[in-house]
Amino acid sequence: MTHVFHRHLQHTPPVAVGGQGLFLRDAAGREYLDASGGAAVSSLGHGHPDVLTAMHAQIDRLAYAHTSFFTTEVAEQLAEQLVRTAPAGTSHAYFVSGGSEAVEAALKMARQYFVEIGQPERTHFIARRQSYHGNTLGALAVGGNAWRRAPFAPILVEATHVAPCYPYREQQAGETPEAYGLRLARELEEAIVALDPRTVLAFVAETIGGATAGVLTPVPGYFKAVREVCDRHGVLLILDEVMCGMGRTGTLHACEQEGVVPDLITVAKGLGGGYQPIGAVLAQRHIVDAMSQGSGFFQHGHTYLGHPVACAAALAVQQVIERDGLLAKVRTDGDFLGQALRDALGAHPHVGDIRGRGFFWGVELVADRASKAPFDPAQKVHARLKKKAMDLGLLCYPFGGTVDGNQGDHVLLAPPYIASREQ
Ligand code: PLP
Repeated sequence: MTHVFHRHLQHTPPVAVGGQGLFLRDAAGREYLDASGGAAVSSLGHGHPDVLTAMHAQIDRLAYAHTSFFTTEVAEQLAEQLVRTAPAGTSHAYFVSGGSEAVEAALKMARQYFVEIGQPERTHFIARRQSYHGNTLGALAVGGNAWRRAPFAPILVEATHVAPCYPYREQQAGETPEAYGLRLARELEEAIVALDPRTVLAFVAETIGGATAGVLTPVPGYFKAVREVCDRHGVLLILDEVMCGMGRTGTLHACEQEGVVPDLITVAKGLGGGYQPIGAVLAQRHIVDAMSQGSGFFQHGHTYLGHPVACAAALAVQQVIERDGLLAKVRTDGDFLGQALRDALGAHPHVGDIRGRGFFWGVELVADRASKAPFDPAQKVHARLKKKAMDLGLLCYPFGGTVDGNQGDHVLLAPPYIASREQ
C-alpha cells in the first residue's frame, strides 16, 4: 500500500535506492543504465563528488534565506556564470524551481514588459503544435500536446498554435529544408497578421522539440526567419530550452547553433542536473530595463526563488561542465551516438526516423515505414517498450501514442554527458 500520489495509480514503480555515475539501483538490487538522464535531466550522472561537496558546503553555511529579504553569494555567483556564458545581451538570470515555473515566469515577464513599455493591448501568445512547455496552466496553455491539454482545455488561457518544424512528416516532396523553414516562418507571420500584430505578445518554441515529438531539430535558417518575423511585428521570442539547453546538444544553449538570440530563454533540467530542483529564465537587458526603469519590480515570485542549495548544486554542475570540457565531448561523442543508433536501428522495420544533436536523440517508431503510419495508440507501444527496457536494465524515455496530428511513438535518449562510448 502506498500513500504517495504517484503518476500512475494502478501500479507502483520500483524503489530507487542508489545512484552512481550512469547507473541507478533499486531496492531489489537491480541496476539500470540511465540512458535518458531521467527525462534529460541528469547531465553529470549520479553521485558526482564535486556537486555533492558544493551542496554540503552550502548547507553548512546557509540552507535558506527568503529572497524578499536577502540575496546570497551563491545565487549571485550562479547568475554571473550563466550571464557570462549566455548569448550576447543577456543581463540577468531569474531563478525558479523547475521548467514549468521557468516558462510561467517567462510568459509573465513578456506580458509585464509590454505593460511597462505602454503596449498593454499585447495579450496573445503564439506557440507550436506538438510542443511541451510544462504542466502548470500557463505553460500547458502554450504547449501543443493535445493529450496533455485535453482535460484542462476549457480553463486554459487562449493561445494560437502553428506548425512545428517536423521535416520527417511535414516537409513537402521537392521542398528543400531551407524552403520548408521559410514556409513555416511565413505561416507564423500569417498567424500574427491574422490576430492583429499589435495584440501579439510572444512566440514560444522549444529550440529543439523534446518530450512531445521525439527530438525535433530545426531545419537550417528556420529560427533566423522566425526571429525576423518576430522583429518585424515587435513580438518577443521566447525559446524554451528546459530540455535541450545547458549543454545537451553540444553547445550550452541550443539556440547558439541556430544563430539567433531570443528575448528570453528558459532552462531547467540540465541546469542543476537533477541534484536539486532549479530552473531559470535568462533575460535580455531590454526586458529587465523596462521593469527596472518602470515599476521597479517583477510582479511575480515564489518562496523558493534562488534557493541557496539549489544554486550551489547548479553552480557546481556548470563549473564541472566547463572545467572538464564536456560540451566538446558531447559534440564528438554525440556524433558517435547518432551513428551508433543509425547503425543499430536504421534498418529496423518499425524505426521511421532517427534524429538529434549532441546527447539528445529521438527515435520515431512507426507501424509502417513506407507510409509512416504510427502505431494504434491502443497498442501502447511506448509503455510496453519502457517496461521491456527496464526489465533489461535500461532507462530510456519512450512516450507518445496519442493521436495529435501525426504524433506517434518515440524513444528519447539523453545520456549524462559523462557517458563513455562503451556505455
Ligand atoms: N519545457 C520543456 C521543453 C520541457 O521538456 C519540460 C519538461 O519536460 C518543461 C518545460 C517542464 O519542466 P518541469 O517538468 O521541470 O516543470
